[in-house]
Amino acid sequence: MINLISDTVTKPSPAMLEYMMTAEVGDDVFGEDPSVNRLESYTARLFGKEDSVFCPSGTMTNQIAIKVNTQPLDELICDHFSHVYQYEAGGYAFNSGVSINLIHGTNGKITVDQVKQAIKPEFDWLPRSRLVVLENSCNKGGGSFYTLDEIRPIRNLCLENELRVHLDGARLFNVLVETGESPEDVGQMFDSISICISKGLGAPVGSLLIGNEKDIQKARRFRKVMGGGMRQAGYLAAACQFALENNIRDLKIDNARAAEIGRLLEKCSWVEEVRPVQTNIVIFRLKSDLKASDFVPKLMAQGIKSSAFGDREVRFVFHRDITDSDMDRLREILLKLRLDQIDT
Ligand SMILES: *Cc1c(COP(=O)(O)O)cnc(C)c1O
Repeated sequence: MINLISDTVTKPSPAMLEYMMTAEVGDDVFGEDPSVNRLESYTARLFGKEDSVFCPSGTMTNQIAIKVNTQPLDELICDHFSHVYQYEAGGYAFNSGVSINLIHGTNGKITVDQVKQAIKPEFDWLPRSRLVVLENSCNKGGGSFYTLDEIRPIRNLCLENELRVHLDGARLFNVLVETGESPEDVGQMFDSISICISKGLGAPVGSLLIGNEKDIQKARRFRKVMGGGMRQAGYLAAACQFALENNIRDLKIDNARAAEIGRLLEKCSWVEEVRPVQTNIVIFRLKSDLKASDFVPKLMAQGIKSSAFGDREVRFVFHRDITDSDMDRLREILLKLRLDQIDT
Protein backbone atom coordinates (compact mmCIF):
# COMPACT_ATOMS: atom_id res chain seq x y z
CA MET A 1 0.00 0.00 0.00
CA ILE A 2 1.27 3.48 -0.91
CA ASN A 3 -0.08 5.56 1.92
CA LEU A 4 -0.58 9.19 0.89
CA ILE A 5 -3.32 9.88 3.46
CA SER A 6 -1.01 12.02 5.58
CA ASP A 7 2.60 12.51 6.63
CA THR A 8 1.46 11.49 10.14
CA VAL A 9 1.65 7.83 9.02
CA THR A 10 5.47 7.82 9.11
CA LYS A 11 6.99 5.27 11.47
CA PRO A 12 10.28 5.55 13.38
CA SER A 13 13.30 4.30 11.40
CA PRO A 14 15.61 1.67 12.94
CA ALA A 15 18.14 4.44 13.71
CA MET A 16 15.47 6.50 15.47
CA LEU A 17 14.28 3.48 17.47
CA GLU A 18 17.86 2.75 18.51
CA TYR A 19 18.26 6.35 19.68
CA MET A 20 14.98 6.14 21.62
CA MET A 21 15.99 2.92 23.34
CA THR A 22 19.17 4.42 24.71
CA ALA A 23 17.50 7.62 25.97
CA GLU A 24 18.08 8.70 29.54
CA VAL A 25 14.70 9.25 31.19
CA GLY A 26 13.10 10.48 34.40
CA ASP A 27 9.74 11.78 35.59
CA ASP A 28 8.93 14.78 33.42
CA VAL A 29 6.04 15.99 35.62
CA PHE A 30 8.74 16.67 38.23
CA GLY A 31 10.89 18.24 35.49
CA GLU A 32 13.39 15.40 35.88
CA ASP A 33 13.51 13.82 32.45
CA PRO A 34 16.90 14.75 30.95
CA SER A 35 15.84 13.89 27.39
CA VAL A 36 12.73 16.08 27.57
CA ASN A 37 14.69 18.91 29.17
CA ARG A 38 17.32 18.67 26.46
CA LEU A 39 14.72 18.70 23.66
CA GLU A 40 12.89 21.67 25.17
CA SER A 41 16.01 23.79 25.49
CA TYR A 42 17.33 22.68 22.09
CA THR A 43 14.06 23.72 20.41
CA ALA A 44 13.83 27.02 22.26
CA ARG A 45 17.38 27.87 21.20
CA LEU A 46 16.69 26.83 17.61
CA PHE A 47 13.95 29.48 17.44
CA GLY A 48 15.83 32.07 19.49
CA LYS A 49 13.17 31.91 22.22
CA GLU A 50 13.44 31.49 25.98
CA ASP A 51 11.66 28.19 26.50
CA SER A 52 9.49 25.45 25.03
CA VAL A 53 7.24 22.69 26.32
CA PHE A 54 6.90 19.14 24.98
CA CYS A 55 3.33 17.95 24.34
CA PRO A 56 1.62 14.83 23.00
CA SER A 57 -0.01 16.55 19.98
CA GLY A 58 -0.16 19.64 17.82
CA THR A 59 -3.78 20.10 18.80
CA MET A 60 -2.65 20.39 22.40
CA THR A 61 0.12 22.90 21.64
CA ASN A 62 -2.34 25.05 19.63
CA GLN A 63 -5.01 24.85 22.33
CA ILE A 64 -2.53 25.76 25.04
CA ALA A 65 -1.25 28.65 22.90
CA ILE A 66 -4.77 30.04 22.51
CA LYS A 67 -5.28 29.74 26.27
CA VAL A 68 -1.98 31.46 27.06
CA ASN A 69 -2.53 34.29 24.57
CA THR A 70 -6.16 35.17 25.42
CA GLN A 71 -8.72 35.79 28.16
CA PRO A 72 -12.34 34.56 28.01
CA LEU A 73 -14.49 36.84 25.79
CA ASP A 74 -11.51 37.67 23.60
CA GLU A 75 -11.61 36.86 19.91
CA LEU A 76 -9.10 35.07 17.75
CA ILE A 77 -8.65 35.95 14.09
CA CYS A 78 -7.64 33.34 11.51
CA ASP A 79 -8.34 32.05 8.02
CA HIS A 80 -11.44 29.85 7.67
CA PHE A 81 -9.23 26.94 6.52
CA SER A 82 -7.18 27.01 9.76
CA HIS A 83 -6.60 23.80 11.68
CA VAL A 84 -7.55 25.58 14.94
CA TYR A 85 -10.99 26.23 13.43
CA GLN A 86 -11.52 23.15 11.25
CA TYR A 87 -9.94 20.23 13.06
CA GLU A 88 -9.68 20.88 16.78
CA ALA A 89 -13.29 20.14 17.67
CA GLY A 90 -14.08 23.76 18.48
CA GLY A 91 -11.59 23.66 21.35
CA TYR A 92 -10.95 27.44 21.21
CA ALA A 93 -14.46 27.95 22.63
CA PHE A 94 -14.35 25.04 25.05
CA ASN A 95 -10.86 25.49 26.47
CA SER A 96 -10.42 29.25 26.26
CA GLY A 97 -13.93 30.72 26.07
CA VAL A 98 -13.00 32.83 23.06
CA SER A 99 -14.91 33.53 19.86
CA ILE A 100 -13.48 33.28 16.38
CA ASN A 101 -13.39 35.82 13.56
CA LEU A 102 -12.84 34.02 10.28
CA ILE A 103 -11.13 35.58 7.29
CA HIS A 104 -11.72 34.17 3.82
CA GLY A 105 -8.16 34.27 2.52
CA THR A 106 -6.54 32.65 -0.49
CA ASN A 107 -5.47 29.01 -0.11
CA GLY A 108 -5.45 29.41 3.66
CA LYS A 109 -3.40 32.61 3.64
CA ILE A 110 -4.56 36.01 4.89
CA THR A 111 -3.20 39.49 4.17
CA VAL A 112 -2.39 42.42 6.41
CA ASP A 113 -5.34 44.38 4.95
CA GLN A 114 -7.73 41.56 5.80
CA VAL A 115 -6.40 41.44 9.36
CA LYS A 116 -6.70 45.23 9.62
CA GLN A 117 -10.35 45.05 8.65
CA ALA A 118 -11.01 42.17 11.03
CA ILE A 119 -9.67 43.88 14.17
CA LYS A 120 -12.65 45.18 16.14
CA PRO A 121 -12.71 48.57 17.89
CA GLU A 122 -12.99 48.55 21.67
CA PHE A 123 -16.61 48.66 22.78
CA ASP A 124 -18.23 46.87 25.72
CA TRP A 125 -20.55 45.03 23.35
CA LEU A 126 -17.86 43.69 21.02
CA PRO A 127 -15.52 40.75 21.51
CA ARG A 128 -11.98 41.97 22.06
CA SER A 129 -9.67 41.11 19.15
CA ARG A 130 -6.67 39.67 20.87
CA LEU A 131 -4.93 36.97 18.87
CA VAL A 132 -4.09 36.22 15.24
CA VAL A 133 -3.25 32.62 14.32
CA LEU A 134 -1.29 31.99 11.12
CA GLU A 135 -0.73 28.50 9.74
CA ASN A 136 2.51 27.74 7.86
CA SER A 137 2.33 25.68 5.73
CA CYS A 138 -1.46 25.75 5.36
CA ASN A 139 -2.80 22.21 5.39
CA LYS A 140 -6.25 22.77 3.88
CA GLY A 141 -4.69 25.45 1.67
CA GLY A 142 -2.84 22.65 -0.16
CA GLY A 143 0.52 23.14 1.56
CA SER A 144 0.75 26.82 0.58
CA PHE A 145 3.11 28.97 2.59
CA TYR A 146 3.89 32.48 3.79
CA THR A 147 7.35 33.98 3.47
CA LEU A 148 8.60 36.09 6.37
CA ASP A 149 8.20 39.17 4.16
CA GLU A 150 4.47 38.42 4.02
CA ILE A 151 4.26 37.80 7.75
CA ARG A 152 6.19 40.91 8.85
CA PRO A 153 3.45 43.48 8.06
CA ILE A 154 0.88 41.32 9.89
CA ARG A 155 3.21 41.10 12.88
CA ASN A 156 3.76 44.88 12.88
CA LEU A 157 0.03 45.59 12.63
CA CYS A 158 -0.60 43.27 15.57
CA LEU A 159 2.12 44.94 17.65
CA GLU A 160 0.54 48.35 16.96
CA ASN A 161 -2.86 47.05 18.06
CA GLU A 162 -1.68 44.95 21.00
CA LEU A 163 -2.69 41.69 19.43
CA ARG A 164 -0.64 38.59 19.89
CA VAL A 165 0.39 36.32 17.02
CA HIS A 166 0.61 32.53 17.20
CA LEU A 167 2.10 30.32 14.50
CA ASP A 168 0.60 26.91 13.86
CA GLY A 169 3.79 25.53 12.38
CA ALA A 170 2.82 21.86 12.27
CA ARG A 171 4.66 21.65 8.92
CA LEU A 172 6.90 24.70 9.30
CA PHE A 173 10.08 22.86 8.32
CA ASN A 174 8.57 21.87 4.96
CA VAL A 175 8.43 25.63 4.34
CA LEU A 176 11.87 26.53 5.66
CA VAL A 177 13.65 24.00 3.42
CA GLU A 178 12.08 25.84 0.46
CA THR A 179 12.56 29.46 1.54
CA GLY A 180 15.93 29.04 3.22
CA GLU A 181 14.65 31.16 6.12
CA SER A 182 15.90 30.28 9.60
CA PRO A 183 13.83 29.17 12.59
CA GLU A 184 15.40 32.05 14.51
CA ASP A 185 13.95 34.58 12.05
CA VAL A 186 10.56 32.87 12.40
CA GLY A 187 10.90 33.13 16.19
CA GLN A 188 11.06 36.92 16.02
CA MET A 189 7.71 37.16 14.23
CA PHE A 190 5.57 35.31 16.76
CA ASP A 191 4.66 35.31 20.44
CA SER A 192 4.22 31.55 20.35
CA ILE A 193 4.99 28.81 17.84
CA SER A 194 3.83 25.23 17.71
CA ILE A 195 5.67 22.60 15.68
CA CYS A 196 4.87 18.92 15.07
CA ILE A 197 7.61 16.31 14.96
CA SER A 198 5.14 13.49 14.31
CA LYS A 199 4.48 14.46 10.67
CA GLY A 200 7.09 14.62 7.93
CA LEU A 201 9.93 14.61 10.44
CA GLY A 202 9.08 11.02 11.29
CA ALA A 203 8.76 10.84 15.10
CA PRO A 204 5.94 8.62 16.41
CA VAL A 205 4.57 11.31 18.77
CA GLY A 206 5.45 14.83 19.77
CA SER A 207 4.86 18.54 19.38
CA LEU A 208 6.43 21.55 21.00
CA LEU A 209 5.09 24.94 22.00
CA ILE A 210 7.78 27.61 21.94
CA GLY A 211 7.66 31.07 23.51
CA ASN A 212 8.92 33.32 26.28
CA GLU A 213 9.65 31.99 29.74
CA LYS A 214 6.53 33.37 31.39
CA ASP A 215 4.16 32.03 28.74
CA ILE A 216 5.74 28.59 28.72
CA GLN A 217 5.51 28.46 32.52
CA LYS A 218 1.76 29.08 32.16
CA ALA A 219 1.66 26.57 29.31
CA ARG A 220 3.02 23.83 31.59
CA ARG A 221 0.11 24.37 33.94
CA PHE A 222 -2.41 24.19 31.09
CA ARG A 223 -0.71 21.07 29.71
CA LYS A 224 -1.23 19.47 33.12
CA VAL A 225 -4.91 20.42 33.35
CA MET A 226 -5.45 18.99 29.86
CA GLY A 227 -3.93 15.71 31.01
CA GLY A 228 -0.77 16.13 28.96
CA GLY A 229 1.78 15.78 31.74
CA MET A 230 3.75 12.64 30.84
CA ARG A 231 6.19 10.70 32.97
CA GLN A 232 9.13 8.97 31.20
CA ALA A 233 8.41 11.00 28.09
CA GLY A 234 12.11 11.08 27.31
CA TYR A 235 11.77 8.07 25.00
CA LEU A 236 9.45 10.16 22.84
CA ALA A 237 11.51 13.31 23.26
CA ALA A 238 14.54 11.35 22.04
CA ALA A 239 12.67 10.47 18.84
CA CYS A 240 11.93 14.16 18.33
CA GLN A 241 15.52 15.14 19.09
CA PHE A 242 16.72 12.62 16.51
CA ALA A 243 14.21 13.93 13.96
CA LEU A 244 15.20 17.59 14.44
CA GLU A 245 18.89 16.76 14.16
CA ASN A 246 18.68 14.39 11.19
CA ASN A 247 15.47 14.58 9.21
CA ILE A 248 14.77 18.22 8.37
CA ARG A 249 16.71 18.31 5.10
CA ASP A 250 14.88 15.22 3.77
CA LEU A 251 11.65 17.24 3.69
CA LYS A 252 12.99 18.72 0.49
CA ILE A 253 12.58 15.30 -1.13
CA ASP A 254 8.93 15.14 -0.05
CA ASN A 255 8.30 18.63 -1.45
CA ALA A 256 10.00 17.76 -4.75
CA ARG A 257 7.99 14.55 -5.11
CA ALA A 258 4.76 16.47 -4.51
CA ALA A 259 5.73 19.01 -7.18
CA GLU A 260 6.48 16.26 -9.66
CA ILE A 261 3.20 14.42 -9.05
CA GLY A 262 1.38 17.76 -9.27
CA ARG A 263 2.82 18.25 -12.78
CA LEU A 264 1.92 14.68 -13.72
CA LEU A 265 -1.69 15.13 -12.54
CA GLU A 266 -2.05 18.23 -14.70
CA LYS A 267 -1.68 15.93 -17.72
CA CYS A 268 -4.32 13.43 -16.55
CA SER A 269 -7.62 13.54 -18.43
CA TRP A 270 -9.67 13.04 -15.25
CA VAL A 271 -8.14 16.01 -13.43
CA GLU A 272 -9.76 19.41 -13.79
CA GLU A 273 -7.33 21.43 -11.71
CA VAL A 274 -4.30 20.98 -9.48
CA ARG A 275 -3.86 23.55 -6.71
CA PRO A 276 -0.43 25.20 -6.80
CA VAL A 277 1.98 22.76 -5.14
CA GLN A 278 4.37 24.58 -2.79
CA THR A 279 5.40 21.93 -0.25
CA ASN A 280 4.56 18.24 0.35
CA ILE A 281 0.78 18.39 -0.19
CA VAL A 282 -1.05 17.99 -3.50
CA ILE A 283 -4.75 18.81 -3.74
CA PHE A 284 -6.48 18.32 -7.08
CA ARG A 285 -10.05 18.66 -8.33
CA LEU A 286 -11.66 15.94 -10.41
CA LYS A 287 -13.62 16.60 -13.61
CA SER A 288 -17.16 17.69 -12.86
CA ASP A 289 -18.84 14.29 -13.28
CA LEU A 290 -16.48 12.58 -10.81
CA LYS A 291 -16.88 12.44 -7.05
CA ALA A 292 -13.95 12.21 -4.66
CA SER A 293 -15.91 9.65 -2.60
CA ASP A 294 -15.99 7.34 -5.67
CA PHE A 295 -12.47 8.08 -6.82
CA VAL A 296 -10.66 7.45 -3.51
CA PRO A 297 -11.84 3.78 -3.28
CA LYS A 298 -10.81 3.24 -6.94
CA LEU A 299 -7.29 4.38 -6.14
CA MET A 300 -7.38 2.27 -2.99
CA ALA A 301 -8.17 -0.82 -5.07
CA GLN A 302 -4.93 -0.15 -6.94
CA GLY A 303 -2.93 0.21 -3.75
CA ILE A 304 -2.95 3.99 -3.25
CA LYS A 305 -4.40 5.45 -0.08
CA SER A 306 -5.54 9.06 -0.45
CA SER A 307 -8.15 11.27 1.14
CA ALA A 308 -11.26 12.96 -0.18
CA PHE A 309 -10.93 16.65 0.58
CA GLY A 310 -14.37 17.97 -0.21
CA ASP A 311 -16.85 16.90 -2.87
CA ARG A 312 -14.50 16.66 -5.86
CA GLU A 313 -11.11 17.26 -4.31
CA VAL A 314 -8.50 14.66 -3.42
CA ARG A 315 -5.39 15.13 -1.29
CA PHE A 316 -2.02 13.37 -1.51
CA VAL A 317 0.62 13.99 1.19
CA PHE A 318 4.21 12.96 0.54
CA HIS A 319 6.49 11.77 3.33
CA ARG A 320 9.72 9.94 4.16
CA ASP A 321 8.20 6.43 4.24
CA ILE A 322 7.42 6.59 0.50
CA THR A 323 10.17 4.72 -1.36
CA ASP A 324 11.54 5.28 -4.86
CA SER A 325 9.77 2.15 -6.05
CA ASP A 326 6.51 3.45 -4.51
CA MET A 327 7.02 6.56 -6.64
CA ASP A 328 7.54 4.45 -9.78
CA ARG A 329 4.32 2.54 -9.10
CA LEU A 330 2.41 5.72 -8.29
CA ARG A 331 3.44 7.36 -11.60
CA GLU A 332 2.53 4.24 -13.51
CA ILE A 333 -0.90 3.86 -11.89
CA LEU A 334 -1.82 7.54 -12.30
CA LEU A 335 -0.74 7.65 -15.95
CA LYS A 336 -2.65 4.46 -16.80
CA LEU A 337 -5.88 5.48 -15.10
CA ARG A 338 -8.53 6.38 -17.67
CA LEU A 339 -11.78 8.27 -17.33
CA ASP A 340 -13.90 5.21 -18.10
CA GLN A 341 -12.25 3.28 -15.26
CA ILE A 342 -13.14 5.93 -12.72
CA ASP A 343 -16.64 6.74 -13.91
CA THR A 344 -19.32 4.87 -12.02
C1 LIG B 1 -1.56 18.02 12.06
C2 LIG B 1 -1.77 19.44 12.34
C3 LIG B 1 -1.91 19.93 13.64
C4 LIG B 1 -1.86 19.06 14.87
O1 LIG B 1 -2.39 17.83 14.76
P1 LIG B 1 -2.22 16.66 15.84
O2 LIG B 1 -2.75 15.50 15.09
O3 LIG B 1 -3.06 17.04 17.00
O4 LIG B 1 -0.78 16.54 16.21
C5 LIG B 1 -2.05 21.28 13.81
N1 LIG B 1 -2.07 22.12 12.76
C6 LIG B 1 -1.93 21.70 11.50
C7 LIG B 1 -1.91 22.68 10.39
C8 LIG B 1 -1.80 20.34 11.24
O5 LIG B 1 -1.67 19.93 9.97
